[in-house]
Amino acid sequence: MKRLSILGSTGSVGRNALRVAEQFPERFSVAALTAGRNIGLLAEQVMRVTPEVAVVLDENLAGQLKKMVGGAIPLKILYGSDGYRAAAELTSADLVVSAMVGSAGLLPTMAAIEAGKPVALANKESLVMAGELVMGAARKKGVSIIPIDSEHSAIFQCLAGNRRQDLKQIILTASGGPLLDKSAEDLDAITPEMALCHPTWKMGPKITIDSATLMNKGLEVIEAKWLFGVPQELIQVMIHPESVIHSMVVYRDGAVMAQLSLPDMRVPIAYALSYPERLSLGLPHPDFIDIGSLTFREPDLEKFPCLALALEACRIGMTLPAVLSAANEVAVAAFLNDHIGLRRIAQVVEQVMTKHKPVPDPGLSDILSATAWARRAAEEATRLPSPPTVYSLSASEPGKGGQV
Ligand code: MG
Repeated sequence: MKRLSILGSTGSVGRNALRVAEQFPERFSVAALTAGRNIGLLAEQVMRVTPEVAVVLDENLAGQLKKMVGGAIPLKILYGSDGYRAAAELTSADLVVSAMVGSAGLLPTMAAIEAGKPVALANKESLVMAGELVMGAARKKGVSIIPIDSEHSAIFQCLAGNRRQDLKQIILTASGGPLLDKSAEDLDAITPEMALCHPTWKMGPKITIDSATLMNKGLEVIEAKWLFGVPQELIQVMIHPESVIHSMVVYRDGAVMAQLSLPDMRVPIAYALSYPERLSLGLPHPDFIDIGSLTFREPDLEKFPCLALALEACRIGMTLPAVLSAANEVAVAAFLNDHIGLRRIAQVVEQVMTKHKPVPDPGLSDILSATAWARRAAEEATRLPSPPTVYSLSASEPGKGGQV
């Protein structure tokens, strides 16, 4: 029996991880669930899977959750950054699923690694912000990090059983998102509702907007660089609108390995939860006759400047990727709240990146202060009178925390 601590259980990956865990009750049980503000769903999940610990953003939400759950089950309710850390370090957990959104995922992911827990990683931002530190800590602790991000799961699977020195190239595929075939001018009129309609994947709002701007693919290049320890030059981004091939690895003899499956997050999630075993998920495989053809094209960096900015941040490194990621989070929240247009996201990110003086060889505190600075700079650039309220992606700044 593997006990899971699911960080971010009310998000898209968290909900699917729970679905997989509940499909195989003889294999998985749940030690901890954490959420931000969605306590309604968290309460439901808690009643279903009876974890030892549940964590929410603040004391008030913790009190509300306590009332909702009542004395029905024994449950420790924690809140704030101490609570998230406790869930990541929980003694009884065998595997930590890191599925919080955005920069909020970094510290809990680090805490899990420092506690020697293997991590199933969906929170790409922790590698974007601090890939060198995260992977360094994992190596030092002998902790395995299994990717959940579908492309990285594909690459991970394509690398299995092959020698690293034979690797020639990684082809990171991208669906291209809902705006792939829009003209640059059309992009000015894109509403959050339009950008949230992803053609192939069903995901949370932040990553869906990142997919629409191709920022997601840029973040994934940085993620792949650290996760697989390869130079950026070896990673090629390719648009593949059908989202059937989730990525490919090219070897020096000219052979290409690809991983294919229908776009359902349960496939990479289940693989990460049960690696190296594969579970009978009861999902169909792609019907190639039905699909007919698979197509590929180059990404348009002019139409999608977010991708170019992320590649630039990856090349320069230091604290710049953390700044890119934080500025993007704020700009995406501003777009979702109708404060700025879609094309302004890249402008805000570029403006904040230009103002930043990257710190060489950054430690965790340099990265966190660059992130906080970038959030403030981006908030100023989006001219928000107050932090976004409808789509709050800023669960990243919880108070210290406690228990109710
Ligand atoms: Mg992905």
